[in-house]
Amino acid sequence: MSMYDNAIDALICGVEDYQVGTAARYKSALRNVYAGLLLILKEKLRCMAPEMGDVMISERVLPQFVNGKIVWKAKGHKTVDTNSIQDRFKALGIKMNWKVLIEISNVRNDLEHRYTELKAEAVQEVITKAFILLTEFMTEEMDLDIKEELGDSIYNAFVNIKDIYEVEKSRCASTWSGFKTESSIVNGCPIELFCPECASELVILNKDGSLDCRFCNENFDQEQVIECVVENQFGFENHNSVKDGGNPGSISCPSCDRATLIVEDLVCANCGESFHSDCLYCSRQIPVDEIDGSGICAWCQRRAEKDD
Ligand SMILES: [Zn+2]
Ligand SMILES: [Zn+2]
Ligand SMILES: [Zn+2]
Repeated sequence: MSMYDNAIDALICGVEDYQVGTAARYKSALRNVYAGLLLILKEKLRCMAPEMGDVMISERVLPQFVNGKIVWKAKGHKTVDTNSIQDRFKALGIKMNWKVLIEISNVRNDLEHRYTELKAEAVQEVITKAFILLTEFMTEEMDLDIKEELGDSIYNAFVNIKDIYEVEKSRCASTWSGFKTESSIVNGCPIELFCPECASELVILNKDGSLDCRFCNENFDQEQVIECVVENQFGFENHNSVKDGGNPGSISCPSCDRATLIVEDLVCANCGESFHSDCLYCSRQIPVDEIDGSGICAWCQRRAEKDD
């Protein structure tokens, strides 16, 4: 059986598990859908250079002499994990919504130990996200029609799950329509709340600013919610820009200690405090990692200490 057939099979099993509707089969549904999703991504890699055999999807590849020439060969049976897939996709210019894939992957990893009883809403959410991701990826990057690949009845079952989830999601979203923070930059972006614990979007904002998650049942206070919103808007950017040696979009606030200080205008989304971008002594711009609320750069601070 080919990798592609395995992928489609896993997706079909996932939907069938979901339809059984017991706690055990809900878990199995998520495992299968996630496995199917990863297999499709690996299939994409394999298809890029089928003549290379397993090299494109193997976690470990080593050079080898064949007839006096060096060729790369797959070593061992371990195939690429999500990180390696991401690296290889990037290198080859293959587009993919990584933010959503990482969300799904985190939930998938938490599944085994955290949730003894998965709620239907939670399963619907993960399956829907995987389905939207797959539809996009198969259309854009593989030139495949997901409806044809899955067959009408499984495709319709996916759409059905998505419809149920979206009704629930908009019911939750209506509770956080008036949400505001102290930062105009944050407020100016579309605000999408999700649970700081499990990344679910099925969250309800209470009148006191606290948040209830319908997925994992956790409750979060207002400050945690603002941190979550900032993380949602800047977390991905922070990760990528810091990796490339740049500044993060948000950092920890010296005043309230929450990770809610927006670097662009140095206003904290949580406590509203604003900070100097230029050093009060030397007027040079204070490097982001030296912002400690004093308004003085580290160099001037050291000099002042010496003078004392
Ligand atoms: Zn949650
Ligand atoms: Zn603050
Ligand atoms: Zn200075």
